[in-house]
Amino acid sequence: MDKIFLEAAELLECLNQNGFEAYFVGGSVRDNLLQKPIHDVDIATSALPDETMELFEHTIPVGIEHGTVIVRHKGKSYEVTTFRKEEDYQDFRRPSAVSFISSIEEDLARRDFTINAIAMDKTGTLVDPFNGREDLKKGIIRTVRKPQDRFKEDPLRIMRAIRFVSQLSFELESSTRKAFEDYAPFLKEIAVERISVEFQKMMTGPSVKNAIRLLLESELHQYLPGLKTKKAGLEKLLKLDMDYLVEDKEHWGILTYVTAENPLEFLKRWKQPSKLIKEVDSILSGVKVVLEDGWSAAELYNYSASYRSIERIAAVITGRKPIHATLEQRIELLPILKRNEIAVNGNDILKWSRKKPGPWVGEFFEQLEKEILNGTIKNEKNDIKRWLEWWQLQ
Ligand code: ATP
Ligand code: MG
Repeated sequence: MDKIFLEAAELLECLNQNGFEAYFVGGSVRDNLLQKPIHDVDIATSALPDETMELFEHTIPVGIEHGTVIVRHKGKSYEVTTFRKEEDYQDFRRPSAVSFISSIEEDLARRDFTINAIAMDKTGTLVDPFNGREDLKKGIIRTVRKPQDRFKEDPLRIMRAIRFVSQLSFELESSTRKAFEDYAPFLKEIAVERISVEFQKMMTGPSVKNAIRLLLESELHQYLPGLKTKKAGLEKLLKLDMDYLVEDKEHWGILTYVTAENPLEFLKRWKQPSKLIKEVDSILSGVKVVLEDGWSAAELYNYSASYRSIERIAAVITGRKPIHATLEQRIELLPILKRNEIAVNGNDILKWSRKKPGPWVGEFFEQLEKEILNGTIKNEKNDIKRWLEWWQLQ
């Protein structure tokens, strides 16, 4: 058993010793069976939230009404959730009620796909009532029970199916795929934040093109923020080699680029955090200049903190290889990296010029900065002083 599970198994052991059933569930079991690295280990148990909280020393009641308690153990956090059934799905929103139950099988039955509905006990024995292991072997995403019912309950599952196609390079089972069309329009009812999480995971998966093809074939893009009329833009993505992209902001950047939308408006519709929106906006401005004029010294200076992201996006768009090493060398050779590295300050300039302060000082520094970067003036006091004298004559 994976080391991460062994440590988490101590929680299962403790629950078992107190007379409760407890299993690993969800993504960690799936990824472990696929021999992929696992991250969060989620636990399902017959213990009620209060009972879980009594058993462990460090707990945080994050979603008690849904049965979830976070247990801290040896520096890690685990979501421990009581076996539950979800009821009263209303208007395609989250269930309005959950009820706690005592059987793991029933808990697994509420889960989205067979590959996500496998439980594993502390000895590594699997509970797999929907043959998830079989589908993992075949590389198939299939809903637990009838797709129509499951997508009707929660249309986000359609988006989740597509992101698993991208992340796992799996195919959709045919009735699961067929049910897409009927329920895709209801994605509009789902909170954009939830869609964004799945969409981002889709964008960063290795088989993102298969996922986008599926989106387009099933016309799902029509119900996603800002993409209703962007079929052609998304088709462009299919022609690009996106493997160069590393960070989330780069994936959002290329998506924004192909839609030709204003980054600020587009990403706001996707409810992205304002920090990411600003970064993407700045990166795309850089991309535009680099695509038009290549990397000038001024461009390297302005974007020395984000040149890699710009270069990766530019490489994806043009189909050339990124040239990080060359750019890095050129940045190292720049005479300055920030304005405060200029060898003189405002006081020097005022003293030498004998002029009153005013907007001209800012204009002077702007021009000076360019000249230093271009190498026409050395970043040295005397040279700058001489240039000031000349500048004043202009
Ligand atoms: P990841 O590795 O990306 O975290 P995951 O499968 O663990 O993938 P989560 O969103 O963390 O995905 O959800 C944990 C588990 O909860 C899933 O494996 C699935 O069993 C269940 N689940 C999550 N979302 C839904 C949903 N919308 N409908 C039904 N079951 C869901
Ligand atoms: Mg998970």
